[in-house]
Amino acid sequence: MLLGPPGAGKGTQAERLAQDADVPVYAMGDILRQAVRDDTPVGREARRFMEAGELVPDQVVLDVITDALSSPAAAPGFVLDGFPRTVVQAEGLAGWLEERQLELDAVVYFEVPEDELLRRLSGRRICTGCGAVYNVYNRPPAEDGVCDLCGGSLVTREDDEEETVRNRLRVYHQSTEPLLVWYEGSATPLRQLDAVGEVDEVYRRLLRVVGCS
Ligand code: ADP
Ligand code: AMP
Repeated sequence: MLLGPPGAGKGTQAERLAQDADVPVYAMGDILRQAVRDDTPVGREARRFMEAGELVPDQVVLDVITDALSSPAAAPGFVLDGFPRTVVQAEGLAGWLEERQLELDAVVYFEVPEDELLRRLSGRRICTGCGAVYNVYNRPPAEDGVCDLCGGSLVTREDDEEETVRNRLRVYHQSTEPLLVWYEGSATPLRQLDAVGEVDEVYRRLLRVVGCS
């Protein structure tokens, strides 16, 4: 499970980890953005919270994630990105896992200073076709504005606009940071990851902290 502020690189590393471990990744932000695009009941409920940089209500995300984790695809294991983000969500997940006699292998906290987060978020571009993530400063596509993977157009996420980013960071400090202490007292203690540096280097450190190298 990957925990950390917005822009810390969780999604980027989650994709690689999941690919190498051959398990699915459940990225709550991606799931919710897809629900908004598909105009499902969850999407209609989530939209206004996401646009404002607020958290979607706990019960909504808990229903979404327990549904996803109950699918056969999740049986061999999974990477969680962006969930849980509140103590209530962490408690919900812990209860769900306990009922099934499952345990998280590792909870990793991505540590990145705020000025670097702001730089990463201002440079982030995502593909409207497949959701792939780029960065104009350090992970540009081969052709400006065009996804290398599917040819879709690259855009700035609406919630990466400066004012919304400030609110997301405020919400992170208020609602998500308490999880750092919560996990210290849990069955799966937190492991710290210095997430500053080249993506490849951060990935090598991630493999070390989860005990895979
Ligand atoms: P999160 O999922 O934690 O919000 P992302 O994985 O989307 O973060 O990364 C945020 C932005 O920073 C993206 O544009 C991504 O390409 C870029 N990024 C990811 N890892 C690094 C890194 N180690 N150094 C610099 N930029 C990075
Ligand atoms: P992300 O893609 O992880 O940056 O998430 C984008 C947005 O989706 C957040 O700003 C929230 O509005 C919403 N979101 C993602 N994960 C959660 C969660 N675990 N709980 C509540 N809201 C979430």
